[in-house]
Amino acid sequence: MSKLKPCPFCGCEEIEIIQHFHPRCTRCGCIQESVIGCEAVPEWNGRTTDRLEKENEELKSEIVRLKSGLLMIESPILYLQEQAERTGNDFNGAAAVSLSNDPEFLKYIARQTLSAGGNNEDE
Ligand SMILES: [Zn+2]
Repeated sequence: MSKLKPCPFCGCEEIEIIQHFHPRCTRCGCIQESVIGCEAVPEWNGRTTDRLEKENEELKSEIVRLKSGLLMIESPILYLQEQAERTGNDFNGAAAVSLSNDPEFLKYIARQTLSAGGNNEDE
């Protein structure tokens, strides 16, 4: 029998075999059961790969989002231009230059960037 990979849902590494064939996570209790017995273990291990690929995609998009936030902190005028476009407001260049020199405004952009993520993380 091939080695059992961690639980695809909670990451627990203690996986037991129940009913002779079916992997079950000892932490969250999820079971690989809806396939022919001898295919349950390959199915279980395949799902772990799916989970890691999904996590990888989520992390990649998080990096893109954070890089975008850092770019806005580096170029706050660009941030203000994009906000004006998004909200349909006029862009005020003089006010933007003044705001871009305010450290509190840079912190505001950082907080906006941080609060936009993390809402869908369970860990
Ligand atoms: Zn689990």
